Amino acid sequence: MNTAYPRSRPFITLLVLFSITCGLLLFTVDVAVSEQAGVKEYLPDTLDTQWTGHDVLFCQTPGCDRSWLARDVEPDEEGVRTCPTNWRGESCGGELKTMSRGEYMVLPKDTVMLKKQYFHNREPYKTVFTSVVLSGRNRDSIHRPEVCMTGQGNVIEMNKVIEVPLAGREPLQVMVLHMSRKLTETYTRHTYYAYWFVGQDRETPHHLERLMWMTVDRILRNVTHRWAYIAISGERAGDLNNTAHYDEIRDVVSKLYPEITLLGQP
Ligand SMILES: [Zn+2]
Repeated sequence: MNTAYPRSRPFITLLVLFSITCGLLLFTVDVAVSEQAGVKEYLPDTLDTQWTGHDVLFCQTPGCDRSWLARDVEPDEEGVRTCPTNWRGESCGGELKTMSRGEYMVLPKDTVMLKKQYFHNREPYKTVFTSVVLSGRNRDSIHRPEVCMTGQGNVIEMNKVIEVPLAGREPLQVMVLHMSRKLTETYTRHTYYAYWFVGQDRETPHHLERLMWMTVDRILRNVTHRWAYIAISGERAGDLNNTAHYDEIRDVVSKLYPEITLLGQP
């Protein structure tokens, strides 16, 4: 009978045991689930006196999938808003939620998602979309944004972390994805998608750093927080050397941040 083991066998066994131990530590140790988040479940109706925001609602009817500004949809007698018409102009009546049907299907049901479109009061063509995603109890509501963006047909041409100056503290670091999407043979739309992550007492523009903090907090502090993910998106010039959109991001984030943050508060 041949009982010879390949030489690497003990090492592989150790590696497997080590992985199992890490897995057990990560997923079976009874960690305290903190309900406390680093941001409010809230997006303000105005940012300073310059921007006015409107809730964005999404039809849940398969094949319709339209989105509406809440201001454009009349509520019924009970205050419920339903989708007025589908793409073909036919009456729809679908349920409206604060997240798209795709997002609702993929995300845990206790995920909180708020979206607003802000319009500049003096320059009406200027508009930005903002969203807050707050993870629920099982903590997997937040995905790597790059994956969602490319899944929607965008090409990420460049990513860059920029600093947003904030009163009374160090600047906030925000990740900016520079995206493009070819809509027709002759027209390519250039957009940006800026985001950062917030834990109860942590902030980072890097997805991997967030995962690292989640693991460290689980193992060393025995706690798991409700992470949130805040995003701002809008149009940019096609030239990657044109940084005019950074001013827009800094303007919106510096006005939004103090309205929604819970960091540093008891
Ligand atoms: Zn509809």
